[in-house]
Amino acid sequence: MDRDGRIYREIEVNGIVQGVGFRPFVYRLAGEHGIAGSVTNTQGGVRIRAAAGSSSMASFLRALEAEAPPQAAIEAIASTDIPPFPADSFAILTSDAAGGKHTLISPDLATCDDCLEELFDPGDRRYRYPFINCTNCGPRFTIIRDTPYDRPLTTMAGFVMCEACEEEYNDPSDRRFHAQPNACPLCGPGLWLADGDGREMEGDPVVRAAAALREGRIVALKGLGGFHLACDATRDEVVSRLRERKRRYAKPLAVMVESLDAAEKYCRVSPEECELLASPRRPIVLLREREGSRLSREVAPGLRHQGLFLPYTPLHHLLVREAGIPLVMTSGNVSEEPIAKDNGEALGRLAGIADVFLLHDRDILVRYDDSVTRVIMGEEYPLRRARGYAPYPVRLKRGYEVEVLALGAELKNTFCFLRGGHAFVGQHIGDMDSRDALEHYEEAMRAMRRLFDLSPRLVAHDLHPEYLTTQLAGEYGLPCVAVQHHHAHIVSCMADNGLDGKVIGVSWDGTGYGPDGTVWGGEFLVCDEEDFERAAHLTAYPMPGGDACIKELQRMAFGVLWEVCADEMEAAGLFGAVFPAHAGEAETLAAQIESGFNTPLTSSAGRVFDAAAALIGVRSRASYEGQAACELEAVALKDVSPYPYRLDMAARPWRVDTRPLFAALLEEVGNGVGKPEMAGAFHAALAGAILETCGNLSRETGIERVVLSGGVFQNELLTAWVVESLEREGMATYLHRRVPCNDGGISLGQAVAAARRSAR
Ligand code: ZN
Ligand code: ZN
Ligand code: FE
Repeated sequence: MDRDGRIYREIEVNGIVQGVGFRPFVYRLAGEHGIAGSVTNTQGGVRIRAAAGSSSMASFLRALEAEAPPQAAIEAIASTDIPPFPADSFAILTSDAAGGKHTLISPDLATCDDCLEELFDPGDRRYRYPFINCTNCGPRFTIIRDTPYDRPLTTMAGFVMCEACEEEYNDPSDRRFHAQPNACPLCGPGLWLADGDGREMEGDPVVRAAAALREGRIVALKGLGGFHLACDATRDEVVSRLRERKRRYAKPLAVMVESLDAAEKYCRVSPEECELLASPRRPIVLLREREGSRLSREVAPGLRHQGLFLPYTPLHHLLVREAGIPLVMTSGNVSEEPIAKDNGEALGRLAGIADVFLLHDRDILVRYDDSVTRVIMGEEYPLRRARGYAPYPVRLKRGYEVEVLALGAELKNTFCFLRGGHAFVGQHIGDMDSRDALEHYEEAMRAMRRLFDLSPRLVAHDLHPEYLTTQLAGEYGLPCVAVQHHHAHIVSCMADNGLDGKVIGVSWDGTGYGPDGTVWGGEFLVCDEEDFERAAHLTAYPMPGGDACIKELQRMAFGVLWEVCADEMEAAGLFGAVFPAHAGEAETLAAQIESGFNTPLTSSAGRVFDAAAALIGVRSRASYEGQAACELEAVALKDVSPYPYRLDMAARPWRVDTRPLFAALLEEVGNGVGKPEMAGAFHAALAGAILETCGNLSRETGIERVVLSGGVFQNELLTAWVVESLEREGMATYLHRRVPCNDGGISLGQAVAAARRSAR
């Protein structure tokens, strides 16, 4: 304390405190509480030096946490006494670039209400300006080259602010104080419309693009994390044309609607779903479609859910309002390629898909796809984590000494950097099966390493020797740790829920490398973060033709018949009866299974869904993984009594025998029972099998915590059924809440398992 009775403190604030208007907030607060000193961005967050009487200091500290700006996320406030320093006012100092980079920057944020009001106010100087933003909204990760998050290190560096913008930028009381992408029509990026040859077209670009959309044309537009392809979501022929050109024949497409009210017109929206739709992260939210909705059947063929989202950039707001129709808004790529991000790249790769191009000159530095999420049992359940979410870290239950880079899985890839108590899960990359995907992967990884100054000492990867990521692992020149796929799923869900110690893990998905030479995917593990025991699994069936079974589902059905029927004759006969068009294949498939040629055994739950869907007559040819399972869920009735199954506990691992299930199902197929009844009884049997197996494992081990992970748990019907029945039996169940249960969550599990083993 000095002569005036003042105390002196240095206050470090960590968390998301940059790019969210935190310093102006501190400045205002300092004024209100009579604090002298300064605030500055550091590479670790924000540092405040404060001088005040002790009661003012205390109320200032309380307000700092309680009144923080809406987009800030404070993780820690540390306050220490320091020697007196001369202070008679409060100042915002320029950023301090020293020290390690540990700053958390907010992910990109949807246009805020204040900016929206200005956007549509004819009297405002940014009226209809498609790049309006402020400290509470706008691009972040998609434009940052490096930290600290300051304008020269963003793709806005080339735009020199005009006098009016500069004034806002320098005024601590302004909403745009240090808003790095601040701009206006005079000084900022511009928008134009181009035809398929890249020639600029006359007229207001938004008005013309909206007219083209109403006329049924396809528009490519440059968004926040990459290009979108947009078209009228209500007309079958328009949506089909987009599918044809993009070569995306079946996967559901997302639809952007103007407002929450518009979303309600097409889908049922719960309060939790409303909140997600309107959140500044603006994910695509899977919603239950209303009967008779006006959306084209081509948007999500065979499914009862639609992925809707709201506009999240000023350009979206202008376009959607002008067009006045719901718009299919899908990533600007061909089939499974990475999303296009540069003007030239888009004009090249999307020529022949889009009729016109809505372009601008604010560069996208790093690609971010739209995030996809849903609500299960009243809470968010992420399916794809990208824009608005990544790379906001998952906070771990404990910190680790070693920095880990986890390379993720082959499909729906993400990577993950683990440092201290944070796991930075990168944005959704997609399937690692092309050079383009690999480039996207490496580009995203470079950006993240630079931003957070990461220097991993350990690389974690999947056990599969043939995954591209496994091959990459060796190239870092660092020690490598292989983590089994289904173990990684469970550890990921444990980290997601802050669990450690022993759990029962139900790890059900399509495919994962098993150390015993079979393909795993219907696994019950007793495990902790380091090790696992394969305690039980589903019956293994032959996959005649290997991966061909994933698309040609009748093959998988034959593999099941082979095990269920008494002999080859019976299997072939049943096969011919259920799949008359494929009857001729039976002999080849049988020969393949007998010789074992290209016929691995699989305990995959995903393949069990495929076989059931094919036998029930829901689908025999899949164009994407999980398609048949989604459609089977969509037709299934609830409250149907289950098909039988048998839990064989004679030897470890136990076996959940699904042959009785298929035998009963085949009988019903023969009797012409309805698909909804059969699909319902199938789901009920699997839910029952999980309950019984977990119940027995729990009695045996004394473990009462069950962790559910793997892509199969994207199935809401099954998941809710399992959770409710397990909890009724007194077991605690854990679902993913921050990363996806599908392979997008694998990297988190790999990172934690590897860090844990190295700490041993
Ligand atoms: Zn704003
Ligand atoms: Zn300006
Ligand atoms: Fe998986």
